[in-house]
Amino acid sequence: MALNSEQMLQVLNALPDPVFVLTESGTYVGLFGHADPNYYHDGHDLVGSNLHDVLPADVADWIQQQIHLSLSKKRLIKVEYPLSASQVKGLENQAGPDGIIWFEGHIQPFPKTISGERAVIWVARNITQRKLLEAKLLQASLTDPLTGVWNRRHLMETLDHTFADFRRYKHPAALIMFDIDHFKRINDEKGHLEGDKVLKILCDVFSKTLRENDMLARSGGEEFIILLPNITEENAFLSAERLRTKAVEDCQNLLGHEYGLTVSFGISEFKQSDQHVQDVLLRIDKALYQAKNQGRNQSVLFGGNPPAEGL
Ligand code: GH3
Ligand code: MG
Ligand code: MG
Repeated sequence: MALNSEQMLQVLNALPDPVFVLTESGTYVGLFGHADPNYYHDGHDLVGSNLHDVLPADVADWIQQQIHLSLSKKRLIKVEYPLSASQVKGLENQAGPDGIIWFEGHIQPFPKTISGERAVIWVARNITQRKLLEAKLLQASLTDPLTGVWNRRHLMETLDHTFADFRRYKHPAALIMFDIDHFKRINDEKGHLEGDKVLKILCDVFSKTLRENDMLARSGGEEFIILLPNITEENAFLSAERLRTKAVEDCQNLLGHEYGLTVSFGISEFKQSDQHVQDVLLRIDKALYQAKNQGRNQSVLFGGNPPAEGL
């Protein structure tokens, strides 16, 4: 028993994902399947139009390039791309998912010409859920779950790139390491959960105080590192001082003044003599150690603080 042509058409129209037939000049000559508005807008009105009539020019150009690629390679190619119904003329008022939809396109050359033109079959599958999950996983792999700031692994990777740029292009960058003073006391007196709250609030307030390109990362426990691109170490020292005074005061106000929260900072910049990122990490560690030893609640620039009147 075999399907007759009417049944074959029914099969095509019952396919769960849209199957476009597109010529190499970009004309939609056929569209089958995709009846479920939870996943797709009904695009059957597109048939007879050209990509360039219904899509923004850059999107239409890109789709046409993929068609040509599949035809020239004579094989299936796979692509991923975002598109929203609002970008497609004629789909704006169709029922379907709101906002950006991520598609996985499978593009296969069609074995015959259609009206004298080569053509492809383009199957477009909605992969938005997978993309959102991928973005969440990526975010989780780069950030600290408690505070939301970057984690040590991502910091170290970024530091490697920034240091390479410094060596190659002489782009300056400075680092600040800070550690909460007597944090054990906060944990002991108020409990670990309150300690966690201090870490979260401090990271929120510090992030808002820093420049957009500064990178705040949790390097371990209650110790953090900030990478400040394109800045001298004197200005990084000033940034640290702003955090130590104004930002810590903002944290105190959010927490309640009885906390007596203070923080110590060590600062240095990439230097021409540095061979490895570790060289600057060692200097900020030493500077922080000095800040702790000298009585805490202070910023120390490795090699000596800038004179106060110069600030
Ligand atoms: P110092 O001024 O010398 O830095 O004193 P300190 O008490 O802060 O000493 P240290 O930096 O060695 O203490 C780190 C403490 O931070 C010990 C650890 O229990 C606590 N800690 C580390 N990670 C977390 C966390 O995620 N949550 C909480 N609540 N506490 C943490
Ligand atoms: Mg500490
Ligand atoms: Mg510590």
